[in-house]
Amino acid sequence: MAKPKLVRRALDSYTVKHIGKVICRGDCVLMRPSDSSKPSYVARLEQIEADARGENVRVQVRWYYRPEESIGGRRQFHGSKEVFLSDHFDIQSADTIEGKCTVHSFKSYTKLDAVGNDDYFCRFEYNSSTGAFNPDRVAVYCKCEMPYNPDDLMIQCEGCSDWFHPTCIEVKPEEAERLDHFYCLDCSPENKKKLQNSRVSTRETDVKVDTKRRRR
Ligand SMILES: [Zn+2]
Ligand SMILES: [Zn+2]
Repeated sequence: MAKPKLVRRALDSYTVKHIGKVICRGDCVLMRPSDSSKPSYVARLEQIEADARGENVRVQVRWYYRPEESIGGRRQFHGSKEVFLSDHFDIQSADTIEGKCTVHSFKSYTKLDAVGNDDYFCRFEYNSSTGAFNPDRVAVYCKCEMPYNPDDLMIQCEGCSDWFHPTCIEVKPEEAERLDHFYCLDCSPENKKKLQNSRVSTRETDVKVDTKRRRR
């Protein structure tokens, strides 16, 4: 008997029956990891395709890496819901899709009123062979000069607009949450005069992602 020709066609959308959700090209999804003790993989659907009978649905995905999966590992400034858009593509069976999720931009993530289970954010692209990030520099804040981790409480100085971790400026977190107005040491009234002259620094200097301290 002649084998049927393997004609595959692209689908705009597809209903994943076991989760009862419609997936479309461009959606972000959670996929079952090969090691079930690991968290679900996060992926963006680049293409959905089926065989001529509309079965055997496969998806072309572009993986998001979690910080733990990157060459440099998880760093202190990585958020718990942070993922990196990698250059690693794959073909997977649609059966491995466990659910849909949303990968927000960094900005929209920090503006969420509540972070749901299925909310993630991405601020870096990641080269899976070299371990390089794009952008390779990010703004840093506070006395500790760290990139912003959206999981950490920070308070903003009304003088210089820099953000500070309460613990880095010896303020208790509960106190920090109650503060209506905050001026950092440099901007506190006693130092105001001095500041008038040195106010130019709006911290546009950036840090290399793979170095801890800001380059001077
Ligand atoms: Zn700090
Ligand atoms: Zn200040």
